[in-house]
Amino acid sequence: MDLNPFEMAKKQIDIVAEEMGLDANITRYLKRIERALIVSIPIIMDDGSLQIFEGYRVHHSTVRGPGKGGLRFSPDVNLDEIKALATWMTWKCSLLKLPLGGAKGGICVNPRELSRKELEKLTRRFTTEIINIIGPDIDIPAPDVNTNAQIMAWIMDTYSMQKGRAVPGVVTGKPIEIGGSVGRNSATGMGLYFVIDKMCEKLNKKLETQSIVVQGFGNVGGWIASLLYERGCKILAISDISGGLYNSEGLEIDKLLEWTQQGKYLKDYKDDRNKLITNAELLATECDILVPAALENQITRENVEDINCKIILEGANGPTTPEADRILFEKGIHVIPDILANAGGVCVSYFEYVQDIQSYFWDLDRINEELKRIIIEAFEDVFKIYKERNVPLRTAAYIIAVSRIARAYDLRGIFP
Ligand code: NAD
Repeated sequence: MDLNPFEMAKKQIDIVAEEMGLDANITRYLKRIERALIVSIPIIMDDGSLQIFEGYRVHHSTVRGPGKGGLRFSPDVNLDEIKALATWMTWKCSLLKLPLGGAKGGICVNPRELSRKELEKLTRRFTTEIINIIGPDIDIPAPDVNTNAQIMAWIMDTYSMQKGRAVPGVVTGKPIEIGGSVGRNSATGMGLYFVIDKMCEKLNKKLETQSIVVQGFGNVGGWIASLLYERGCKILAISDISGGLYNSEGLEIDKLLEWTQQGKYLKDYKDDRNKLITNAELLATECDILVPAALENQITRENVEDINCKIILEGANGPTTPEADRILFEKGIHVIPDILANAGGVCVSYFEYVQDIQSYFWDLDRINEELKRIIIEAFEDVFKIYKERNVPLRTAAYIIAVSRIARAYDLRGIFP
């Protein structure tokens, strides 16, 4: 069970159901998904050969509004992973009081092996295959691992062509020129930053004196590393899929970002002051704040004893298994859960969607101001329950998120 993300998501529901004394019927209902569409995506490759990829779109719950969730292109994608990610989106939107549900999608593919033309064909055919279950009133995809603004632009265009009019509200994370929002790119990192700043305040620590380790140096990891670096924190180690870099004096994040933004791997960055480390070594590095910002299942029963930090700030979705969670809580390590910590992304996605529907766009100050207000309010709600009940921050966050969903099901009833 430990490493199947959907089993993990269901286990998390059981933990909170027991803590809340949740009705058994509701608990069963929360542990199923509303629908999953599995599609095959045939593509004529540049060399004339046919390749067939498998893709998924899952709705976990739309009880509080249209589905919302990213789209992931990765060779590890599978249905259970997407079901788990859709479930976590339900809790995240609920915790932030966004009028949206939980959804997620993915294609089992390594996009680095495709040409730009092949990637475009893959995206457009996938969009066509799932067209009946996406839309501004149904489910609104967004970027996730290995997808970006360009891919969202192709989705928006494909959908709009089918409808015969421009429909910017069908996806978020689009380029600004076609209805994207300022601040969406930095949103998840910015949300993490607001949350960790508040957490340090609660613990009477100065954020700028904290030492940091970040796993994953993409959108989420890159932004949070950069924001903390600018704040004056020492970033001891970072990693990407190729491995990690360590420097006890702190890494030069600005230069490393320039490097990776050219599509280059961290392992190829040459600087004698930095030591090459593995991802396993990175997770075990002594630091104040560890930010897993790559994939799920990184902190498990197997390596939890090696974790050597005071706070874990979950940039990734599902990086800590329930078993590891329990041990971390016993050891007094604070885990700021994904559904709170990385919710800045979906929050600004929601702002983008609202702006598209209204055809009225905000400036960056307004985006960051509203993001801060919403995420800090959620943080305070979670922190209050955590103090009152002496439960892990994750359980506290789930109590709030799950009870709102349970209440919505209760009010709406089960059709017919
Ligand atoms: P990304 O593709 O931009 O970056 C992923 C990074 O992780 C890359 O540096 C990649 O090399 C690295 N990586 C991949 N596999 C790895 C492995 N096995 N070991 C170590 N590093 C590995 O993706 P992202 O958008 O930054 O997403 C990262 C995580 O954050 C995911 O869990 C995603 O679901 C979550 N998340 C993303 C957003 C968002 O707005 N992009 C919002 C909330 C949560």
